[in-house]
Amino acid sequence: MISLADLNRLIADTLRAAPFTLSVEQLPLHAALGRVLAAEVRAVVALPANNVSAMDGYALPLTGSLNAGERLRLVGEVAAGNLFSGSVAAGECVRIMTGAPVPPDCNTVIMQENVQRDGDAVTLTAAARSGSHVRYAGEEVACGDLLLSAGKVLSAADIMLLASQGIGSVDVFRKPRVAIFSSGDELLEAGQAVTNASQIYDCNRPMLRAKLAAFPVEIMDLGIIPDCPATTLNILREAGETADIVMSSGGVSVGDYDFLKEALQQLGTVHQHKVAMKPGKPFLFGQLGQAFYFGLPGNPVAGFVGFDMIVKAALWQLCGAAPRPRLQFQAALDEEISRHGTRLEVRRAVLEQDEDGALCITSSGKQDSHRILGTARANAYYIVPSESAQLFAGEKVTVIPFAETFL
Ligand code: AMP
Ligand code: MG
Repeated sequence: MISLADLNRLIADTLRAAPFTLSVEQLPLHAALGRVLAAEVRAVVALPANNVSAMDGYALPLTGSLNAGERLRLVGEVAAGNLFSGSVAAGECVRIMTGAPVPPDCNTVIMQENVQRDGDAVTLTAAARSGSHVRYAGEEVACGDLLLSAGKVLSAADIMLLASQGIGSVDVFRKPRVAIFSSGDELLEAGQAVTNASQIYDCNRPMLRAKLAAFPVEIMDLGIIPDCPATTLNILREAGETADIVMSSGGVSVGDYDFLKEALQQLGTVHQHKVAMKPGKPFLFGQLGQAFYFGLPGNPVAGFVGFDMIVKAALWQLCGAAPRPRLQFQAALDEEISRHGTRLEVRRAVLEQDEDGALCITSSGKQDSHRILGTARANAYYIVPSESAQLFAGEKVTVIPFAETFL
């Protein structure tokens, strides 16, 4: 059994070493949100493109400064979308709006709140300094500057940046195909009637589909398979041939009806089975030809945690994304826990902030790996390190928030 950190490293290294490349497709910008950029983008337009006004006010040529009470003569106007091409002499000014190009003779803008105006007479009510309230051409971005690197997962801000360049389409990696299935004789689909007491509804596949919705992937839902060696072999073979990534839940333990490891061994390679994490000790990582396989445990909460702690980063890597840090921080524990065992524990918990802004965290109910209600009530994980047998109230713990539960 290996540690969670070692498993994550093993997976990242294995994926990096594999000759797995995604082809590139061109998408209109409006369809590119959340997709992975396939090539760097450099600036073709400077930002700002011209010297422009940062304020609604009055543009003027100025060396040094002016004092309150000094007067200027208004000689024209320029709004965003216009140019003022006339000349502006010392002691004169031009009415200017935010974003309008500063007239060539001018170098300073006085905000309108700092003047009194009477016809074409403009009187300063506050001192003005040369060079103020002007955004200079290229001060943020010069032509040729690197804007976005390959591997960037495109955000709304990236779309805004690309749009500022007049770019209407981008090259992104194609979506990898992810095949998912659930395994277990006891599993029913929603809508199927329970006909005997051993049956339960499959909640892992809907959970996985929900998690996968945040990724630029194409989902192939292969349904539920029974606990049968031949069926397991068939589905793995089919999935490995048609998908880039195969993900399953259940059947990876060491029970008499856990067939996935054997099937993977027959058809491909088992890189790792088991990780020193609680919940979710059984975890299969391997390869099926060109496809990568992640076998999550059947207990829904173990699968949920396994996805976040192990699969998530690997999946982004397989989507072509550059590595990103995981958001984690410290918060004060609001409970005391003691435990047996030495596996790193990922507890489902509620993170709260008091009136002073201090963060505190407490478990969302009991922590057995079948307790899905407690997981639904959680908004974060906290980590109990492998070496800790006891944690005290007030102690700082590492928190990993469920990003999607915060505004
Ligand atoms: P397994 O990993 O197949 O040994 O399953 C462990 C436990 O998780 C058993 O109690 C299963 O009934 C349960 N389980 C397995 N798959 C699912 C699923 N898709 N939805 C809900 N529970 C499941
Ligand atoms: Mg099972």
